[in-house]
Amino acid sequence: MDYHMLKPESLMMSYGYKPELSEGSIKCPIFQTSTFVFKTAREGKSFFELAYGLREKEENESPGLIYSRLNNPDLEILENRLTLWDKAEDCAVFESGMSAISTVLLKFLKPGDLLLYSNPVYGGTSHFIKDILTGFGIDVLPFSAKDSQEMILDRLEQSGKAQNLAMVYIETPANPTNSLIDIRMCRDIADSYSNSDRRVLLSVDNTYMGPIWQHPLAHGADLVLYSATKYIGGHSDVIAGACLGSRELIGQVKEMRTFLGNMAGPWTGWLLMRSLETLKVRMTTQNRNAERVAAFLVNHPKVKRIHFLGNLDDPRQQEIYNRQCHSSGAMVSFDIKGGETEAFAFLDNLKLIKLAVSLGGTESLAEHPATMTHAGVPPEERESHGISEKLLRLSIGVENSEDLIWDIGQALEKVKTSPDARKTANLILSEA
Ligand SMILES: *Cc1c(COP(=O)(O)O)cnc(C)c1O
Repeated sequence: MDYHMLKPESLMMSYGYKPELSEGSIKCPIFQTSTFVFKTAREGKSFFELAYGLREKEENESPGLIYSRLNNPDLEILENRLTLWDKAEDCAVFESGMSAISTVLLKFLKPGDLLLYSNPVYGGTSHFIKDILTGFGIDVLPFSAKDSQEMILDRLEQSGKAQNLAMVYIETPANPTNSLIDIRMCRDIADSYSNSDRRVLLSVDNTYMGPIWQHPLAHGADLVLYSATKYIGGHSDVIAGACLGSRELIGQVKEMRTFLGNMAGPWTGWLLMRSLETLKVRMTTQNRNAERVAAFLVNHPKVKRIHFLGNLDDPRQQEIYNRQCHSSGAMVSFDIKGGETEAFAFLDNLKLIKLAVSLGGTESLAEHPATMTHAGVPPEERESHGISEKLLRLSIGVENSEDLIWDIGQALEKVKTSPDARKTANLILSEA
C-alpha cells in the first residue's frame, strides 16, 4: 500500500503495525516487558552495534528490540503514527510534555549559549528556562508576541551575547491569551545567527494547536514539541510528551532520552495509540463547539472581550493566523466584566463544565489563569500580557454545543454585576 496517498486519519488504526507478528491481533498488544530475547548471540551483538552507533544502519534495517528504555513496540509504532500529522522524519515520545521540553533544552544548549524565548510560555517551561537552565550557565532572553523582528534583533545585539545564540524557543498561540508568534520570523532570526559550523535551532511548542491545526515544521521549525497529555491523549487520563523533527535531530534527542531514562512506558504508548484513532474527529468537534461558544460570548453583556483565534481584531495577528494556522482551535479565553469576584462567581456556578486546569480533553474545562495556571508569573508581567483578574480560560470539549452554551449562559447570569458594569450592560442591551 502506498501510504503517501492516504490521509493521516485513515492510517491511525494500522500504520506501522503488523498483526501477523502478534497472533493476528487486530490491535497492537501492550508489550509490558522490560527486555527482549535475542535469537542468537550474533543478533544481540548486531543490535547493540547499531544502538551504540558502532556501525551504519543497513538499507531497510530497523533497530532490533533490546530493552524498553531504548525501544519498545508500543512506543515505536506510536512514534511512526505521530510523524504522519506533522510530516516529520522521526519522533520521540516521553513520559510527559515537560520531559520532552527539558530533554531538548538540555541536549542542544551548553554553558555560555544564549536561548531566545517567547514570553509567556507554559509555567513549567518558564521555570525550567529561568531557574534551571540559568543555573547551568545558559543565558536566556525573552521576547513577547507584540515585539517586531527589528525590536528582537536590537535586543539581541544589546545583550552583547547575540553570537552565542543557540536556540529560539517559542510557544504559539501563547497560553492563555491566544497571542500568535510568527514562526517564519523566528526562522529568519535563527538564520541570521547561523553559520556553516552551527545552525541556530528553532523549537516550537505546538501543544495548543497540534498536531492537526498547525504544522510548525512546514514554516521552518527544526523541532516540534507536544504535551501529549493535551489533544493527543485527549481524555485527561494520561501524562505524556513528544518531540518531532529530522531523523538527525531526533536521533540526538533519543540518545539523550536513553540516558536520562525519561521515555514513556508501554501502557502510555498503548493509550496514546488508542487516542490517535479519534484525534481528528475529536479536534474537529472541539473546534466547531469552540466557534459556537465564542459566537455566544462575543456579544454577551457580561463579557468585556474575547480572545479567540476566530475573532482576532489585530491585522498583524490576523495575517500570521492566515499564514500559519489551519483552524481557530478550541481554546476560548475571555475577559468578564468586573474582576476576581465576578470571575470566581462564573466558575463556581458552572454545572457541566468542570473547574480544572489542563486542556485538550474530551470534557470542557474552565479556569482562572491569574490565580491558577499563571499564579507564578510576577503581577506586572501578568498585566503586560493581558493575564488580568478578569481573564477566564475555557478548553472546549466534545459535548453538545447547545449544552455548553446553556451552561455558560446560566453561570454568567448568576454573576452579580457591579453597578458600573450593569450600566454598560444595559447600554448594550438597549442598543441591540
Ligand atoms: C501542559 C503543557 C506542557 C507540559 O506538559 P506536561 O505533559 O504536563 O508535562 C507544556 N506546554 C504546554 C503548552 C502545555 O499546555
